[in-house]
Amino acid sequence: MVRLNEDFLKIKQSYLFVEVAHRVAAYSAAHPQADIIRLGIGDVTLPLGSAVVQALSKAALEMGEQKTFRGYGPEQGYDFLRSAIAAYYQKHGVSLETDEIFVSDGAKSDTGNITDIFSQDNIALISDPTYPVYADTNLMCGRTIRYADANEENGFLPLPDAQTEGDLIYICSPNNPTGAAYTKEQLALWVSWARQHGAVILFDAAYEAFIREDGIPHSIFEIEGAKECAIEFCSLSKTAGFTGTRCGYTIVPKALVVKSSTGEEMSPNRMWNRRQCTKFNGTSYIIQRGAEAAFTEQGMREARANIAYYMENAKTIGDTLAKKQIRFFGGVNSPYIWMKCPGGMDSWAFFDELLNRAQVVGTPGAGFGKNGQNYFRLTSFGTHEATAEAMARFDRLF
Ligand code: PLP
Repeated sequence: MVRLNEDFLKIKQSYLFVEVAHRVAAYSAAHPQADIIRLGIGDVTLPLGSAVVQALSKAALEMGEQKTFRGYGPEQGYDFLRSAIAAYYQKHGVSLETDEIFVSDGAKSDTGNITDIFSQDNIALISDPTYPVYADTNLMCGRTIRYADANEENGFLPLPDAQTEGDLIYICSPNNPTGAAYTKEQLALWVSWARQHGAVILFDAAYEAFIREDGIPHSIFEIEGAKECAIEFCSLSKTAGFTGTRCGYTIVPKALVVKSSTGEEMSPNRMWNRRQCTKFNGTSYIIQRGAEAAFTEQGMREARANIAYYMENAKTIGDTLAKKQIRFFGGVNSPYIWMKCPGGMDSWAFFDELLNRAQVVGTPGAGFGKNGQNYFRLTSFGTHEATAEAMARFDRLF
């Protein structure tokens, strides 16, 4: 008789946002007139820039002409996009060869799929709180997880210490959900630890485009030695509003080499290539043309304007919390604001209170891990008007 993957039994049944949606739907059904403001889910709201839209349209038309029609493309992505990504990295002083860049349909797939190339025996080290995908994808393949506490004492930026244990070190900076971002010096400590312990850092740079401050790396590869111990994931989702358009990329440096149990040198770059060629047939040509346009001067200008708009919301939220003397993290190099629930309240209780009394929806910190128990995530992806209205209600309530 067939047996299913029983590791799935270890995963919490209700995904965080499903429970949030469920509670909001119940409230909405009971109060049909309520003007609910959603500062919860981390999705962009502003439309794609015109450079991207033009490129998408042009590529769609090409697909309808015999001369320019394209079928299957390279699994790793078209050279025109891989070169554009390499040029983007060069702006931060990181030199990449195009065959170290793998284009995909987004960072969620890649951060989940990367588990394929690592042995099940590895221990994954994941910060708590965390973007849930890192934990769930490791649980799905039966891997042991250790959690690194991210809390107020370490500014939600855990660093390696004598107790640190792990082979796959997940780092997300700027962080979802806490908005905290590692400095260059702090990341260098992780790189040095990983090299000493033969670990691999899986670095998620999905929010790098929100970095405002100097000294915060946009890429782990800005740190010397990182190419020998790290893989990086990034995405156009938050950089250029591609959450519904879908395009991401993963950097697997060729300098990263790991010895097998019999002493043979293995290349994660070659393995990821093999994995992608086997299980993935490439990102759509049309989307890759749109992504290429996002990296042009006009594309970047338009993307930056949207990010600036969101960051004004982050400031509106931060100013209100500061006025109310509520402790918070993030909102400076990140679209996320991680606030302490007033009066030491539990995060789901605060969720219900905010929904019931202010009709504002956020995300309970407990959904991201035990250290999120008394915290709450607000996002800056709403309109200026809705964010200002939510904060006015907040101001009256607390
Ligand atoms: N990584 C982090 C930390 C995220 O917060 C998200 C989306 O919210 C993703 C990856 C997923 O990005 P993508 O839309 O490229 O799949």
